[in-house]
Amino acid sequence: MKDYRGYSFWLETCDDDLTPRPPLDGSIDADIAILGAGFTGLWTAWYLLLKEPSLKIAIVEAEIAGFGASGRNGGWCFSGFPVSPLALLESHGYDAARLVSLEMHKAVDEVGRVTREEGIDTHYAKGGELEVARAPYDLPKLQKMYDEFRAIGLEDHHQLLDARETRDRINVAGAVGSFWNKEGAAIQPARLARGLARAVERLGATIYEQTRVTDFAPAPHPSLTTERGTVRARAVVLAGEAYLSALPKLNRAIIPVTSHMVVTEPLSDELWEQIRWRERDVLGGFGINGGYINHTADGRIAFGAYRGTYPYKSRITDQINLDEDIFDHARQAALDWFPMLKDVRFTHAWGGVFGMPRDHMPTMTYDRTTGIAAAYGYTGEGVATANLSGRVLTDLITETDSPLTMLPMTQRRKARWEPEPLRWAGVTFVRHGRMRMLKNVERQRKYPEKPTLAQRLYDF
Ligand SMILES: Cc1cc2nc3c(=O)[nH]c(=O)nc-3n(C[C@H](O)[C@H](O)[C@H](O)COP(=O)(O)OP(=O)(O)OC[C@H]3O[C@@H](n4cnc5c(N)ncnc54)[C@H](O)[C@@H]3O)c2cc1C
Repeated sequence: MKDYRGYSFWLETCDDDLTPRPPLDGSIDADIAILGAGFTGLWTAWYLLLKEPSLKIAIVEAEIAGFGASGRNGGWCFSGFPVSPLALLESHGYDAARLVSLEMHKAVDEVGRVTREEGIDTHYAKGGELEVARAPYDLPKLQKMYDEFRAIGLEDHHQLLDARETRDRINVAGAVGSFWNKEGAAIQPARLARGLARAVERLGATIYEQTRVTDFAPAPHPSLTTERGTVRARAVVLAGEAYLSALPKLNRAIIPVTSHMVVTEPLSDELWEQIRWRERDVLGGFGINGGYINHTADGRIAFGAYRGTYPYKSRITDQINLDEDIFDHARQAALDWFPMLKDVRFTHAWGGVFGMPRDHMPTMTYDRTTGIAAAYGYTGEGVATANLSGRVLTDLITETDSPLTMLPMTQRRKARWEPEPLRWAGVTFVRHGRMRMLKNVERQRKYPEKPTLAQRLYDF
């Protein structure tokens, strides 16, 4: 049997029994059939059961609850959304752009509120999100972030800090300024996924683990087909994020992209004295050594590298989680941010996949005529967004008239990835182009005046 503890530091230390629940054994009927026991599937089940406690919900999971990105991510539960406020303003107008941000703020608080009420200790600490510029040429990026929120009237939630104010908050080498977003919390993500799984079971849902869905069917008989039987339901929810690309019907809807993390041993009090970082804000930054960084509740630093790769034909294997070059890079980048870590041991390294849609926009849809609902495509910003998905899908499926059902993500779109091998060639070209651009920026100490070809093909 697989040792699921080995898939991330978070799964190893979540204090839950990771022994798989029984698989599906034969065909069953349910009201709602959900593919995937990650944040999206679990939040959807939780909100549906809150609204209609008598619903019979079956969640079908290929491995165990929290096996995917939900059990391996950076623990940034923050209001960042894959489409920026300005892009939303231009494409969908002021009210829609503002509502998306406000609902993302609410998502961060919902994760805190529900877990408190359900007795799930996710080590939730709402210290905000701090994006640090470590070179003067990155300062305009901070200003742009602030201006985007001002354009939708939400600048009150954000603050620009100068070099001294940034250093007072956290001692990052070379910091010249930062952007602080108060809508961010650090969490232990596997504790959230595992705790939510137990919470939905308490509400009456059944989770079938080690049961892979091989196909799904629309009305007149919405269903999930598995290797061990079929789940027939009134509505089917596709909540498999990057892994959905393995289903032939969704192969071009989403691609998997890897992300890798390392974590230190617990740091001494003297080191924390030097680093400060008392509020446990989630911490991020730009450039070659940029990353997403978490001050864990047990006093470690977890560092995630921005070095995503795309596996040819979207093939997700355990092998792609283990990239020694990226682990090395992440350890070096962590030292570059915090030189005082030079004698500290890194104890764990792991990777996972997130889903990336062709047009950046997450999907949160339900088609009443087919009985198929889906929520995916968060491009590495899914911890809080998945909570929003759960609330949106619940209102859509229960036909509740709410502003959530009008959000831009609920509109069906046609953006599909190119077929292979064009897809792999394109994504790889953009990835290398981005690295080349960042290296040039570091050498020339400025960004190119015009977007590069790679950026024009897929803006990042
Ligand atoms: C290393 C890493 C770091 C990240 N850091 C952050 C961060 O700090 N903040 C943030 O906001 N986001 C982050 N993300 C993204 C975030 O973790 C995800 O967007 C989020 O967890 C998605 O949740 P999900 O439930 O939709 O998908 P997942 O957690 O991937 O869950 C999907 C589940 O579906 C199951 N499944 C898939 N296909 C099938 C099938 N055919 N049959 C049955 N079951 C199936 C999988 O086994 C899996 O358990 C990160 C992602 C990675 C990989």
